[in-house]
Amino acid sequence: MLVMRKWAVRHAGFLERIYRALARILRAMLPVARAIGLERLERPMAGAERAIKGFLFDCKMCGRCSLSDTGMSCPMNCPKQVRNGPCGGVRADGTCEVHPDMRCVWVEGWRGSQLMSGHQLSATPNPPVEYNLAGSSSWMRLMTDEDARVDSTPATVRPAASNLERLLASDAFVVTAEFSPPDSADPADVRARLAPFAGSVDALNVTDASGANCHMSSLGVSVLLLQAGCEPVMQISCRDRNRIAIQGDILGAAALGVRNVVCLTGDNVATGDHPGAKHVGDLDAVSLLATARTMRDEGRYLSGRKLVAAPQLFLGGADNPFAPPLDARVMRLQKKIAAGAQFVQTQYCFDIERLQQYMARIRDAGLHEQVRILVGVGPVGSAKTAHWLRTKVPGVHIPDGIIARLERAADSREEGRRFCIDLIQQIREIPGVAGVHIMAARQESLVPSIVAESGVLDGRAPLFGGGQATLAALA
Ligand code: SF4
Repeated sequence: MLVMRKWAVRHAGFLERIYRALARILRAMLPVARAIGLERLERPMAGAERAIKGFLFDCKMCGRCSLSDTGMSCPMNCPKQVRNGPCGGVRADGTCEVHPDMRCVWVEGWRGSQLMSGHQLSATPNPPVEYNLAGSSSWMRLMTDEDARVDSTPATVRPAASNLERLLASDAFVVTAEFSPPDSADPADVRARLAPFAGSVDALNVTDASGANCHMSSLGVSVLLLQAGCEPVMQISCRDRNRIAIQGDILGAAALGVRNVVCLTGDNVATGDHPGAKHVGDLDAVSLLATARTMRDEGRYLSGRKLVAAPQLFLGGADNPFAPPLDARVMRLQKKIAAGAQFVQTQYCFDIERLQQYMARIRDAGLHEQVRILVGVGPVGSAKTAHWLRTKVPGVHIPDGIIARLERAADSREEGRRFCIDLIQQIREIPGVAGVHIMAARQESLVPSIVAESGVLDGRAPLFGGGQATLAALA
């Protein structure tokens, strides 16, 4: 099957022409099909489709075919069911984060798209799979023109939903940081972890079972942070919940005062402490963004059912300028913006040159004016940790020179801290970057000195622990 999948991508241009001809023929046959009866035709058409597309594309008959938008590489073969890829975890050699023996389905799709008339994957978001259509014929829908796209109309102008949104709109250089929820049911364990961040950051991202490891929920921690006077950025991963549960959580979080949400596809379950768990993946990061934006701007669920009160949200996503295929990363960000992302936080940056190249492309496309970009940084305590991050955490790119620098250092922890400070100062100078996002797992005590010595706040008080003056200036 892998052989035929590769063949299909290599001949994507030829297959696109066949597909277009097929679409024309099917549409021309609609009156005849109606005379025979569309329902009577469904079974034989689905059978033919299964045989042909199964052979060529390893088709799973999801019922919502998007091959012409995915470079003739079927996204249903992606182990995380990402329909708007490539995800941020693609390995440096282009293989899949989950199955290293397989090329990433979306790397292949990007390659196939270069042979097609559009020459690139569409920046228009693909909708999620409708599981009640599984096994049915998408050719029949092509005939009747019923296939849907995710609405990508620009977000309507509305008042800022959060202080973080206000701050980013003010053009201040913003500092957020990652907060790791405890393995505890005691709120005191959340409060005890806040000390290093007060007086240093504007908002805290609350991870949602990061690395697919179980911890206190991001919703629970977000509410505890609000009670402690800190603005949370609640992460929502598509890995563990379907669209029904996620939409309920969005409403519950908004009702409790959570305003900032980051939409993530989620890490692979096999990397976490419950490798036997099921990866849900009912939505992906892009379709989750579109869902949250629909709830906010149109006051309805994805199903169309009306909400009594719409949630006020500032919507964000993740971005990885450092994972291949680098050429596809701008398109992936465009997709997220089209789906509703107003800010993104990137994967760890350890390669300033690669970031500068990426930002130049972002500026050329004008995306820095449509989305606020916060670059991920963090102190790495030793060469061993850097090596572990590079090999075990999907999508982390650390050049050899950084590891060598840590190896040579007499005090590698201090060297890692200094490197982080230097990096922040360089990132600050890149046009189009709106802030930094500090990820200092197990080194949270270094955050105050990193923020202070980098001068990143430029003398202003951060929102958390001293931001009254900042807030008053924004009012
Ligand atoms: S690397 Fe990510 S997007 Fe690509 S096939 Fe694997 S899980 Fe899917």
